[in-house]
Amino acid sequence: MTLNVAFDAPADNWNKYSVALARACDRAGLSVDLRRDHPPDQVDYLIYTPRGGPMLDFSKFNRLRAVLSLWAGVEHIVVNDTLRVPLTRMVDSGMREGMVEWVCAHVLRYHLDIDRNITSQSGIWDPQIPPLARNRQVGFLGLGALGQACASAVAALNFNVSGWSQSQKSIANVTFYGRDSLADLLKTCEILVLLLPLTEGTENIVNAQTLAQLPTGARILNPGRGALIDDIALLAALNSGHIAHATLDVFRTEPLPADDPYWAHPNVTVTPHIASETRPETAAQMVAENIRRFETGQDPLFLVDRDTGY
Ligand code: NDP
Repeated sequence: MTLNVAFDAPADNWNKYSVALARACDRAGLSVDLRRDHPPDQVDYLIYTPRGGPMLDFSKFNRLRAVLSLWAGVEHIVVNDTLRVPLTRMVDSGMREGMVEWVCAHVLRYHLDIDRNITSQSGIWDPQIPPLARNRQVGFLGLGALGQACASAVAALNFNVSGWSQSQKSIANVTFYGRDSLADLLKTCEILVLLLPLTEGTENIVNAQTLAQLPTGARILNPGRGALIDDIALLAALNSGHIAHATLDVFRTEPLPADDPYWAHPNVTVTPHIASETRPETAAQMVAENIRRFETGQDPLFLVDRDTGY
């Protein structure tokens, strides 16, 4: 039987994905009619990313079996009450690798104080020897698909790594802090990495109170979601010097407006949501594998829990 698979994502994605998706479905033994313009009531599977504007009315898709998000973060989809079928989010190997590279690079930048050497070629010989990684504390909020991969990679560089998540985790060389021990974790973090999804429980998790629990001079990396941070509280902590620096990849409003204070702040680095990206070749394999799983009654990969919102 041929499955009707609709691709509802920005037009330039279609050029990147259509060939990879067709190939991956073929390899998975699936017969699919992949198009951008299937009528809603003919669609079996919907490959989807929100494009802003009004929410999609999923109730028009009356034979839909599942929605397959091309994004890892699904905060814009889980709130859509018309979605009644399973939703999977995207974690492909390319996205995982990209995030590991971004996090390791920025952790090393902070650890080795690379900026100091790049920006102060002053002619003054002033050696400042950094500690070894084993003496540097890096903490992760979120130990999911991406958080675990990044925490393990940073631990493999010899950093002293700890992490926090909703449920208990056992990760080699990563000290786990349970749900009620956030303050205990924060007080150890010289570098804090945010890899939480945006949900009701995580919005503004970095606020005046939690920032105060970090040691003076802590640095923050946020490749998770902008609204994890109370921006006013972070700017105040940066201005007071309590937080030494923040590297922010994600923001409440994207693109970050030109007059946003983060752009001009001397102790903030803005990166334009490039920490990681769904890669068509590996993402197409994930999509095809999940369609195969749905069709054969197996549990899909990265199924979103509508109750927790991630
Ligand atoms: P996962 O859903 O796999 O992991 C989320 C982690 O957060 C889990 O460890 C989960 O705990 C934990 N968590 C969620 N809610 C809470 C809470 N209230 N208290 C404590 N812990 C909590 O997500 P991923 O690792 O795949 O991705 C993380 C986020 O990264 C995405 O949601 C997305 O927003 C962002 N992202 C950003 C990209 C970029 O380019 N900047 C690219 C891709 C993703 P538990 O394990 O117990 O469930």
